[in-house]
Amino acid sequence: MAELINIKINGKEYTVEKGITILEACKQAGIKIPTLCYLKDINAIGACRVCVCEVVGARSLVASCVFPVDREGMEILTNTKRVLDSRKTTVELLLSNHNNDCNSCVRSNKCELQKLAHDLGCNEHRYNGIKQQFEEDVTPYLIRDNSKCILCRRCVAACDKLQHVHVIGANNRGFNTSIGSAYELSLNDVPCVACGQCINVCPTGALRERDSIDEVFNALNDKTKHVVVATAPAVRVALGEEFGYPIGTNIEGKMVSALKMLGFDKVFDVDFTADLTIMEEGTELLGRINKGGKLPMITSCSPGWINYIEQYYPELTSHLSTVKSPQQIYGALVKSYYAQKNNINPADIVCVSVMPCVAKKTEMNREHVNAYKEGKDIDYVLTTRELARMIKRAGIDLPCLGNGNYDRLMGEGTTAGLIFGVTGGVMEAA
Ligand code: SF4
Ligand code: SF4
Repeated sequence: MAELINIKINGKEYTVEKGITILEACKQAGIKIPTLCYLKDINAIGACRVCVCEVVGARSLVASCVFPVDREGMEILTNTKRVLDSRKTTVELLLSNHNNDCNSCVRSNKCELQKLAHDLGCNEHRYNGIKQQFEEDVTPYLIRDNSKCILCRRCVAACDKLQHVHVIGANNRGFNTSIGSAYELSLNDVPCVACGQCINVCPTGALRERDSIDEVFNALNDKTKHVVVATAPAVRVALGEEFGYPIGTNIEGKMVSALKMLGFDKVFDVDFTADLTIMEEGTELLGRINKGGKLPMITSCSPGWINYIEQYYPELTSHLSTVKSPQQIYGALVKSYYAQKNNINPADIVCVSVMPCVAKKTEMNREHVNAYKEGKDIDYVLTTRELARMIKRAGIDLPCLGNGNYDRLMGEGTTAGLIFGVTGGVMEAA
């Protein structure tokens, strides 16, 4: 059983498990300590010094994300003037060489650095540091802008410890340190799997998805084009967060209404083509079992996973199902069956999908996935965040909308594909 000790935080007594960090002890006591480089379970390196606290008797301030509570009677102070001044100065110094281009930054209002600066009262520029010039690293799925990077290394930890891919790290030393790939190579030229986890954990606008919003708006404004969209199962329960709904709220009806107001000619549900993926994969599995094919068979509907196995375990690719992902089946059906049925030239159709993952932007560019020989089955992939930005840019007040209904691609009804949106859902659907 864990040993318990008695400590004081800001003069009040608490009993906590010996050995946990000050940050954890304060969290249990309901005291919030600001953090920046810290990421639970994967990045506790005490690097940014934003989470500093005073430990009575210690010579200097300590980083609460790594400093253990290990002494009976330990006294911790989290909000003295010394602590607050130190945190403020740290953030001011970070801002001194940051590009501070907040008005045009995609992360503005959701940036952790911006929020900290506000919370800590960084109301003036007391320090003027050197602004380093960096070239953006532009890939088909993400953009790195190191002029906004604060060297927290959260992206490095996500790539190493969550994804086990290890293609980014710190280059150079001291003031010249920057995050990137070995030999300053672009992510295009290293075995990055395009999972996008580094974007998710970045506290600033240094990493962002490659945005297709302008291209989709242009297509919607082109009267010669028939523009259709389909949404992945997870998008309906993720979009709401961008509009103030509690995490996980299903706003399917409002999302469909918003897509129709944006001007899409048809709004389809990827759930149906997820069902087709499962029917095809099930058939393929039975075929492999009955005819002695390669087993176990592994689903191929996640492009990040496909990039990973191709780059790191090429000897296992024969285990992959040959079935297209739901996104690509949707694109193929739209540019063949749907185009024929509705007497539309597939060249005049713009096929958009809304997906929870940037790897889908790489999938649509894989030549062998396209059934439509004259071009791509999918023309643009938007992430949930991009869709939210489009809705806001068009001035659509999503919470006030009624519930719209999806259009039907092939007369489909209720599907099992909906549970693709949760972990394990693909196999449960199968
Ligand atoms: S997209 Fe994924 S694999 Fe590529 S750098 Fe980011 S975390 Fe690593
Ligand atoms: S790119 Fe973002 S997550 Fe990575 S070190 Fe820079 S600020 Fe941190």
